[in-house]
Amino acid sequence: MGEFANKNIWVFIETDEGKAKSVGLELLNPGRMLAKKAGEELVAVVFGTENTAAVAQIQEYGVDRIISVEGAEYEKYSFDAYTYAMTALVNKYAPSAILIGATNNGRDFGPRLSCRLRTGLTADCTGLDYDAESGNVAWTRPAFGGNLMACIMCPDTRPQIGTVRPGVFKKAPVPDKHADVISEKISVPADKIRVRLVESIREAAEGMVNLEDAEIIVSGGRGMGASENFKLIEELADALGGAVGASRAAVDAGWIGHAHQVGQTGKTVGPKLYIACGISGAIQHLAGMSGSECIVAINQDPEAPIFTMADYGIIGNVFEVLPALTEEIKTLKR
Ligand code: FAD
Repeated sequence: MGEFANKNIWVFIETDEGKAKSVGLELLNPGRMLAKKAGEELVAVVFGTENTAAVAQIQEYGVDRIISVEGAEYEKYSFDAYTYAMTALVNKYAPSAILIGATNNGRDFGPRLSCRLRTGLTADCTGLDYDAESGNVAWTRPAFGGNLMACIMCPDTRPQIGTVRPGVFKKAPVPDKHADVISEKISVPADKIRVRLVESIREAAEGMVNLEDAEIIVSGGRGMGASENFKLIEELADALGGAVGASRAAVDAGWIGHAHQVGQTGKTVGPKLYIACGISGAIQHLAGMSGSECIVAINQDPEAPIFTMADYGIIGNVFEVLPALTEEIKTLKR
């Protein structure tokens, strides 16, 4: 304890077309908790060509400082440019920990950065705390197929780095706090950039699946029986203005795309309302949706484990319950 000069909790704010992605803003919430417990500062780090919009978003979440790095090389995520710049920042400021959203890019960036800095990384965390006795961040993540939760610490090296799943933490704005913005100019030598993003094509269907930000999710599992029956899920989701989720069994059966999968190897979601239809409630599914504010389960088996997690349980056949529910909601809206 106390053997490291490294100080402050950093949160990497990933951007998409100049705007902060939700996960970075979510991570400012546990980041603030860690910084408070450690008696350190919370610092947001953002890369881009023009960070004004992202910086304004970050300002709403109570950070102590924002490090903004602007340059053409940061327009899109580039593991070479981002790793180069973040390594330079770490060498200059020596943070104690860096939290990165476990998005596709974050899952690429985190390990690369930790390797470059010769430090540890805890991937895909679902919980965070500060261990006051050792002064380490205590990262929690599922292990052994989700059957137990492992608490991992990085006692020997700094910074401690972890990727944290989107949707695990809620955004917590802090009014009336204004952070200093430090602008850092870091130009990445052209020969350090080995891979260039030539074009990115947003797949129409995938682009529409924004489960992490959805306030209402209706999910279907193996109990839906067939691909065509997923239209019952879509109809209820439409009536409620929600998004469509799925269990892995439904995704593996090819009834719906992987972008819809909720759970340990899918997305972690935290909607206001989660309706699980024909889903048994395996631990790996629960890992992705237990943070939902209100859970409704529809299942014909009264012993299904999902009922232990549900706020409201409907014991019944999805083929009868779903159309009735959709009809009722449409009537209420009329
Ligand atoms: P089942 O467990 O088969 O449950 C189907 C349910 O439907 C049953 O409870 C049944 O009573 C009910 N039912 C059947 N017919 C009807 C009907 N007509 N009306 C009402 N109810 C009906 N799973 C995930 O979901 N997400 C993950 O990310 C994930 N990651 C995993 C990672 C690992 C490493 C492993 C080992 C597994 C993972 N799984 C994941 C798989 C998980 O263990 C389960 O196999 C899966 O969640 C089961 O999906 P299910 O509930 O749809 O199917």
